[in-house]
Amino acid sequence: MSENKGYSPLQARLQRERKDKTLFQRAMDFGWTYAENIEERVVYPKSEALQGLINFEEHMPQEGRDATSILETLERYGSHATVASNGGRYFGFVTGASIPAATAASQMASFWDQNAAMQVMSPVVAKLEQVCEEWLKELFDLPGDTVAGLVSGTSVANLCAIAAARYRILQRQGWDVRGKGVFGAPSIRVVCGEQVHASVIKALLILGFGLDALEKVPVDGEGRMLSNKLPVLDKNTLLILQAGNVNSGSFDPFDKIIPQAREAGAWVHIDGAFGLWVKACASLSHLCRGVELADSWAVDGHKTLNTPYDCGIVLCADKDALQQAMQSNGAYLMQGDERDGMIFTPEMSRRSRAIEIWASLKSLGKQGLDEMIATMHLRTSQLADALKHTKGIKQLNFVHFNQLMLACETDELTLKTLVNLQESGTCWAGSSSWFGKKVIRISVCAWPTSQSDIEVSANAIQKALLQANK
Ligand SMILES: *Cc1c(COP(=O)(O)O)cnc(C)c1O
Repeated sequence: MSENKGYSPLQARLQRERKDKTLFQRAMDFGWTYAENIEERVVYPKSEALQGLINFEEHMPQEGRDATSILETLERYGSHATVASNGGRYFGFVTGASIPAATAASQMASFWDQNAAMQVMSPVVAKLEQVCEEWLKELFDLPGDTVAGLVSGTSVANLCAIAAARYRILQRQGWDVRGKGVFGAPSIRVVCGEQVHASVIKALLILGFGLDALEKVPVDGEGRMLSNKLPVLDKNTLLILQAGNVNSGSFDPFDKIIPQAREAGAWVHIDGAFGLWVKACASLSHLCRGVELADSWAVDGHKTLNTPYDCGIVLCADKDALQQAMQSNGAYLMQGDERDGMIFTPEMSRRSRAIEIWASLKSLGKQGLDEMIATMHLRTSQLADALKHTKGIKQLNFVHFNQLMLACETDELTLKTLVNLQESGTCWAGSSSWFGKKVIRISVCAWPTSQSDIEVSANAIQKALLQANK
């Protein structure tokens, strides 16, 4: 009894596994080998690999299995059904890879298993959140009082910011939304571009804004809000702008719009999931000129910054509004003088994303960050150049940052070409539609993408089109 400290049989087994260095080395070896060979993998799993997933289908087991066999099962059937988005030729959605130092730091953080809710629950995570908040404010040139909440992605960051806006706009009209709730509250106008991101719509729906009254501003051929089509704004308005159109990569004209919105007393929110990062890149920061005059910003870590998944950040210049929107009180919640991350986020318990943001920023430095972002732009331009003279392929957008849309002569050919490309395993792009036309949508958002990745991918696209024409 004293020998095994009175552990139950299960505890004894788990203790053994916790102390089993070879178990963790095994996990590292599997993971490391995966990363080491990622450029040789097919970018999207072949159908045999997908069929292998059937091996996960079983009844919930009665008895537990040993850790080593669990890793082996995951390696055997799981690793082959991954997409190689951590490599250089995955161009789907807007998907970042992972900075090695952050991947490694994330392993350490797994052992620490910290809860990021409050300072008292993890002093180190609270400190790193505070440091990251300062660094992000500096990189994006945001007002000194700006606070940051670390969440799962821009979807939740948008939600937090819009909740803060809702609190403040109603409070200015004498309506305390914390006390009186949203039902029966004075109405708030919501103004956004015609190509507002789906996650903003979702956030508005969750927060009780109906979509019928949404005021959508017409956009130009690149998806940018037309500043001369902006309705008259007032202090009951929430204006939502976009840094990085999810299809074209374009940016709303912030310096034309935000000053007049401020003048009118409107709240300005920026959905900057991947695009806000250009602010930290000398050659591209002009795209975000004036964005710092907004009230709130949502941005991802897992896209352009290439932190591991998942990681998003809400930034809000009105600390009180964000806190009023997110904070609840419980008797057992002892709030320290130092930073308690949960007062800026919907969740209490959270994983320690600050460790990964901190490790990524520290690994890159301002210089590396600038270079990584500029390289995403360069690679996208290189791909556009490589395909410029390909007969039968048209480029539908200007390369603002890291997005490129391609179309063939008909929608049918575009989709056929895309399927061929996806099945090639050489690179992977998704589809979208652009002003009614089907497109092959390419996003270069991963640090490993090299010039040769671009050449190989351009060839694969040309070959896919040839096959489609057969
Ligand atoms: C990706 C994206 C989002 C949603 O971000 P998640 O991190 O997936 O939640 C919102 N807006 C834009 C413009 C995006 O590109």
